[in-house]
Amino acid sequence: MELLRPSSTEEATAALGNGSVALAGGTELVPLLREGLAKADRLVHISAVLPRGVDGTTIGAGTTLAELEADPEIPQALREACSLAASPQLRSMGTVGGNLLQATRCWYWRLGFDCWLHGGEKCFAKDGAHREHAIFGNELCASAHPSDIAAALIALGATLRTTKRELPVSELYRLPTADDRDVTTLAPDELILELEVPKPEASTYLKAMDRRKWSFALVGVAAARSSAGVRLALAGVAPIPWTLDSAAALDDSTPLPGTAYKVEIARALVRRALESTSPK
Ligand SMILES: Cc1cc2nc3c(=O)[nH]c(=O)nc-3n(C[C@H](O)[C@H](O)[C@H](O)COP(=O)(O)OP(=O)(O)OC[C@H]3O[C@@H](n4cnc5c(N)ncnc54)[C@H](O)[C@@H]3O)c2cc1C
Ligand code: SF4
Repeated sequence: MELLRPSSTEEATAALGNGSVALAGGTELVPLLREGLAKADRLVHISAVLPRGVDGTTIGAGTTLAELEADPEIPQALREACSLAASPQLRSMGTVGGNLLQATRCWYWRLGFDCWLHGGEKCFAKDGAHREHAIFGNELCASAHPSDIAAALIALGATLRTTKRELPVSELYRLPTADDRDVTTLAPDELILELEVPKPEASTYLKAMDRRKWSFALVGVAAARSSAGVRLALAGVAPIPWTLDSAAALDDSTPLPGTAYKVEIARALVRRALESTSPK
């Protein structure tokens, strides 16, 4: 395998596609390559050319989660989401851009089963072990999106600037369909460059986990209040980060037998998040 070190984002973009894949911190991509779950002929190391750091409301996609969790200028929901994600070592290497593009943690998918999301006929989780899986959007694939950071950014109304376009973070994601089983709308030769994160009046991120550290969200709830009202977004409940129109929308969830408990956790966390972001 070849490792390319481009000297500009233009050079990096030109090198992407046709078997060339972007490498940032490598905390997600390297294990996927090792397990044969991702394929690449060439890795394009983008860390040196990605914008990095915080400038007002703009965050470079190459900024690490550790840098974000320690910056007092970053809205509370995003800082909390970063500090509750992964481990200190992973947060020191993992970038915010890479976090948004991480693959599902569904154990069938990670073990290489020929399940629906891998192009097969059947979702094994729905009939099998699925206690960590989805309560929304789970008709074809019942995986649960693992990004705490994506939920926080969606609640905050953040937008992305890529090498091709500007878009709300929520539009980076799409539920997989029979025709296109990808869960993001990013093109193979498109790089995320920056995020624009408006400052809220108040925000929070609450995460239920099997243990208090280094655990993926069973349910993560982000809430952000601005002059337009309160926006809610959830991690760990659907194949993509899930925008929740209101607390009542949890009544429309479609849990599997083993994920019904998540609805009750979500109700409790949404109530707490709304309380903590309401005007005092
Ligand atoms: C054990 C473990 C526990 C974890 N726990 C959590 C958790 O609790 N919560 C949570 O939210 N996350 C968690 N994570 C995910 C972790 O935060 C991500 O692995 C990390 O942020 C990915 O960033 P990276 O820079 O290492 O990405 P890489 O591994 O370099 O890349 C990941 C993917 O994104 C693409 N990519 C990277 N940057 C860009 C860009 N700028 N533009 C376009 N494509 C890009 C790569 O091509 C690749 O497909 C965990 C990860 C591990 C391994
Ligand atoms: S939940 Fe999705 S990734 Fe997991 S087995 Fe079902 S189709 Fe595959």
